[in-house]
Amino acid sequence: MNRVKGKTCIVTGAALGIGRACAERLAEEGGAVALFDLHDAEGEALAAALRAKGARARYWHVDVSNEARVKAAIDEAAAEFGGVHVLVNNAGISGSIKLTHEITEAEWDQVQAVNVKGVLFCAKHAIPHMKKAGGGSIINLSSIYGLVGAPDVPAYHASKGAVRLMSKTDALCYAADRIRVNSVHPGFIWTPMVEHHLQASGATREAVGSLHPLGHMGEVDDIAWGIVYLASDESKFVTGAELAIDGGYTAR
Ligand code: NAP
Repeated sequence: MNRVKGKTCIVTGAALGIGRACAERLAEEGGAVALFDLHDAEGEALAAALRAKGARARYWHVDVSNEARVKAAIDEAAAEFGGVHVLVNNAGISGSIKLTHEITEAEWDQVQAVNVKGVLFCAKHAIPHMKKAGGGSIINLSSIYGLVGAPDVPAYHASKGAVRLMSKTDALCYAADRIRVNSVHPGFIWTPMVEHHLQASGATREAVGSLHPLGHMGEVDDIAWGIVYLASDESKFVTGAELAIDGGYTAR
């Protein structure tokens, strides 16, 4: 309880999957949560459910690749909840399963627009509010695919590798402002994104699970608890770090 009390936490991609679990756990831990997503029915319903449990929560329809919309929503969240202290850059897409010699420029650009520019735009417009608040925590969802290669989704790999180094650069640029920036690298977690990915690739849940030394895929809360830690002051000396929550996938 109360691990992030008094903090306004923006979570992008908050209606489903990992983002939804992050919003739920941050709200339980006393944070005011601003939910950004494209799925309005799910986002509004989640905000209402969190409010019914006593949390401060509101949903905004935000495409993170639209800078003007990102800025407007962040400014509104800051006005509504009193500043911005935590940003969870979680919204992401995997893109189509096409190799480098097959992918179109438009398919490549779409993945970078959401996964890389989305992270840039949200950080860019949250940082002035964090400076005003005297500090903050930015948590960027990269992936095991931002740490090691795999023979699929090259645009996604490129985007998650970029997010890893954007996190370290911003950690250095804003350390003097007491803004911490870290990346989180999930292994395969059972979410709508992974369900669609497996449908498209023909792989089974068991086969992909067995790629992790612990023998199975992770759950959304495995990631959400790591994010609560990075959002809270428990991690006040942690910046520029990469937290792999991957059942040992990248330990080899
Ligand atoms: P998910 O199930 O697809 O949920 C992501 C949410 O973000 C969805 O509601 C999605 O909407 C939304 N979103 C997509 N594009 C957006 C945009 N432009 N603006 C705002 N919201 C947008 O994904 P997830 O599996 O929870 O993944 C969350 C993050 O963790 C992603 O960055 C992903 O790359 C990363 N990650 C996931 C795994 C995994 O195994 N699940 C592993 C490593 C890293 P749509 O349904 O319309 O796309």
